[in-house]
Amino acid sequence: MQSYNSFEVAQAQVTAAAKLLNLDRATLDLLLWPQREFTFTLPVRMDNGETRVLHAYRVQHNFARGPAKGGIRFHPDETLDTIRALAGWMTWKTAVANLPLGGSKGGVVCDPRKMSERELERTARAYVRALWPHIGADRDVPAPDVYTNPQTMAWMMDEYETITNRHQPGVMSNKPLALGGSEGRRSATARGGVVVVREACRACGIDPRGDYAIQGFGSNGQRAAILHQEILGGGRLVAASDSSGAVYNPEGMNPIELRNHKLRTGSVNGFSGSEPIDPAEVLELDLAVLYPAALENAVNVGNAERVRARVLCELANGPTTPQADQVLFAKGIHVIPDILANAGGVAASHLEMVQNRSGDYWGEAAVFARLDDTMTRAYHAVHGASRERGIHPRLGAMLVAVARVAQACKLRGWV
Ligand code: GLU
Repeated sequence: MQSYNSFEVAQAQVTAAAKLLNLDRATLDLLLWPQREFTFTLPVRMDNGETRVLHAYRVQHNFARGPAKGGIRFHPDETLDTIRALAGWMTWKTAVANLPLGGSKGGVVCDPRKMSERELERTARAYVRALWPHIGADRDVPAPDVYTNPQTMAWMMDEYETITNRHQPGVMSNKPLALGGSEGRRSATARGGVVVVREACRACGIDPRGDYAIQGFGSNGQRAAILHQEILGGGRLVAASDSSGAVYNPEGMNPIELRNHKLRTGSVNGFSGSEPIDPAEVLELDLAVLYPAALENAVNVGNAERVRARVLCELANGPTTPQADQVLFAKGIHVIPDILANAGGVAASHLEMVQNRSGDYWGEAAVFARLDDTMTRAYHAVHGASRERGIHPRLGAMLVAVARVAQACKLRGWV
């Protein structure tokens, strides 16, 4: 099977949108490339006394609409090109959601599953010591991503505040509540995804209370499984997979019990009443809604023909390859592209930044209402653009996003 370079895929998406928008060459060249990139090494002391030198990145793709914004991943397969692609997708994501932010992404090549809590803390602090002059509430604001979490942000914020000698909670988002995090942030990515599924089902006349499945039962996948039933008023969770296996029950599984089982045992395997299935099969079930919530390239030309969901909501970043996209489009599957489907996370990060700036903290209901509004508007902007032009929703989303960022670049006189 063809393997993809995510950055080339991301660049091709920008080029396609720019073509439809008749963008000039200079604007396209600007949007194809990150405005700034940092690659650095982090010597980190391990618990056994050895020092390991980890490779790390921060890519700031675009600042035209506001401070760059995006997560930091700790992952063994990280590459500069993956981070470049993901940084660009953050620019498009914040623009689709119409947030006053740019896009960035960071990564450390390491395997957190094999590291202790103290080793992770030393890695997080080393990352900030290397990068601190180039981040900040008005410059670039990191958040958690794959294998990082609010605790990682707490260490990073503490390191930043120690270096700068100021209280600056707005330097990181998705922090623990006790350190200036926002109510509702942790579930915001999943909540935003379910809100756009609600809008998609309404727009396409699909009953959202049919069967659904989660590919990647990690933190976002678990929350989406629970919120799906809460927000849509029903639906049967028939399958879920994680990196160690998959479970299936045609009668439906209780998502809260499945999450508790995973928290207790470390995987979905062996959940009572379910049968084990091949994780690949989860993507091929007859479903109303499928949520790919793991890593890149899960839906590819090898399995796209067999995908039978009516709505595919991309909670993960980049889960569908370009060739698979064409297959899904031809089959009439309603794809809610990642830069729209998972924009709820960064939308709530923006609300956290607003609260950090003002020092005025809101209740959960206020955050959820703003988030719902942002996601609903974003869905209809994208759906409208793709309907009008008869194009794949991913291109529709890129069209909306690229037009907004290009306009900001032009107004600044950059191009
Ligand atoms: N890492 C999340 C994403 O990919 C959130 C980014 C943020 O809140 O800055 O959208």
